[in-house]
Amino acid sequence: MLPTVAVVLRAPCGPVSVETISIPEPGAGEVLLRMEACGLCHADLLVAGMQRLPVAPLVLGHEGIGRIEALGPGVDGWRAGDRVGVTFLAATCGQCEYCRNGLERFCPWQSNMGFNRHGLLAERAVAPVNYMVRVPENLPAAEAAPLCCAGWSAWSAVCETGLQPGQRVALFGMGGLGHLAVQYARERGLRVVAVDVSESKLHLARKLGAELTLPAEDAGRALLKRFGGVDAAVVMTASPDAIRESFRSLKRGGTLVLVGLSTARPELPLFETILKGITVRGHYLGTREQLEEVFRLAARGVGRPQVETFPLRDTPRMMERLKRGELVGRAVAVMES
Ligand SMILES: [Zn+2]
Ligand SMILES: [Zn+2]
Repeated sequence: MLPTVAVVLRAPCGPVSVETISIPEPGAGEVLLRMEACGLCHADLLVAGMQRLPVAPLVLGHEGIGRIEALGPGVDGWRAGDRVGVTFLAATCGQCEYCRNGLERFCPWQSNMGFNRHGLLAERAVAPVNYMVRVPENLPAAEAAPLCCAGWSAWSAVCETGLQPGQRVALFGMGGLGHLAVQYARERGLRVVAVDVSESKLHLARKLGAELTLPAEDAGRALLKRFGGVDAAVVMTASPDAIRESFRSLKRGGTLVLVGLSTARPELPLFETILKGITVRGHYLGTREQLEEVFRLAARGVGRPQVETFPLRDTPRMMERLKRGELVGRAVAVMES
């Protein structure tokens, strides 16, 4: 067993504390990492609020950058000193119909960092090499970490709209994912409308290339009136109001991509879905190729997250701020040493 300082959820529904715990040595196909940085994600709040946990106590965190310190048995292609990114998708079976068709994120036998195995908000962590990605040395750890979840999900969600250059997309929710999605949509040549309740977040969206920004209230009607609707909408908040407005904002034949996760049960009107030929897609993470693409894009300056860094010990306080919607961009814990 190895001691490490980590962000620990002791029992279902918390509290979350920062303490020294012991983690197991890396097993077959795993490596020990010295962590450099790990971002905070809304999914961490969902895990911290769950009534039942697959593992307790549990180290949180699933978008981390670290350096390999030691290799477990049977690890090929990686060396001590390699700099890597680790995602929520820790390992998959590699054999089911989903794994064989590039849909590994739907593998029923997957394991997940910071959910059913210890996560990355820690000074040291053990992770399978299965889904690790190489991280260029010139990318600062704090900017690289959010790419492992927020960036990956945002890039693939923009791809999931299926839109062509010149078409118009409305992006609802300008948080950790949203502010990256603006950059990715621009990269794909799309015309971007950004929607949020926060003026400071909309300000950031304008700086990043949104052609139009709108307050969330009545955004759907505003977009119908102005453009006759948008070709697609991506919802990166779990607010039922945002989901309702995004649906309203669509043109006939439009596509709605739902990314923001929560236990809410928003209504989607059957009548309009059918008669307007609307496609509704649920989406999270992406393909292995899209994860690598996100790092290639970042290396040439596309999809650089705006981050607020903090020391690991401040994680409980930062999780509260995330819950209250106070963070602009992504909050990222940076480990000392
Ligand atoms: Zn996440
Ligand atoms: Zn599988």
